[in-house]
Amino acid sequence: MNKLTPKAAFRKLAAIYTRMSDQYVKAADAMNLSCEGCTSNCCLTFFQHHTYIEWAYLWHGLNQLDESVRQTIVERAGDYVEQARLAFAKGERPHVMCPLNLGDEGQGRCGLYEHRLMICRMHGVPNFLTRPDGRKVEFPGCWKCQELSAAMREAGREPVAVDRTPLYADLAKLEMAFVGRKLRNLPRVDHTIAEMIVLGPPKF
Ligand code: SF4
Ligand code: SF4
Repeated sequence: MNKLTPKAAFRKLAAIYTRMSDQYVKAADAMNLSCEGCTSNCCLTFFQHHTYIEWAYLWHGLNQLDESVRQTIVERAGDYVEQARLAFAKGERPHVMCPLNLGDEGQGRCGLYEHRLMICRMHGVPNFLTRPDGRKVEFPGCWKCQELSAAMREAGREPVAVDRTPLYADLAKLEMAFVGRKLRNLPRVDHTIAEMIVLGPPKF
């Protein structure tokens, strides 16, 4: 596949994200899952992300924000990285609010909703991935989803699960088309959103 311009790659990524959102909504609606009034917040969950294309698209979104907002986010990202480091030093898994969650601590909204990453989009609902070796890896969704799933099963109904496999396959192809042949020689991306912000846009 020919190397894509950032503009073309971002358009394709947005299309993959739209497919994800559509499937998320179907699965969430089937179980009446809503984030409204949730007593937890998945933006506190420690996640790492693994593609240059999503990293670059995140920065595409950050660059559209007012300078003062972006500056606040960059500072929050620095705090996040430090708090995560301290948590790991104590042998704990970090439980720190994502620097892009701009509301009150605990119940704020995503400050970069259109540019949020794949894991943010899939976390809530049951979903699964079939690996190239045929092994199926299942994700039960967030805590609220798991409660609703249990209630559905008790009532003899099976929750709808999103198949991440084709979405991931398309994301992997897009990553290759975005970065080009040098992808195989670049370091693997293994960053939290905060690290992606602190590091700046990906360089390759
Ligand atoms: S996805 Fe689940 S845990 Fe996250 S805010 Fe929505 S209901 Fe709460
Ligand atoms: S990018 Fe947005 S949705 Fe994802 S963890 Fe951060 S605030 Fe939450």
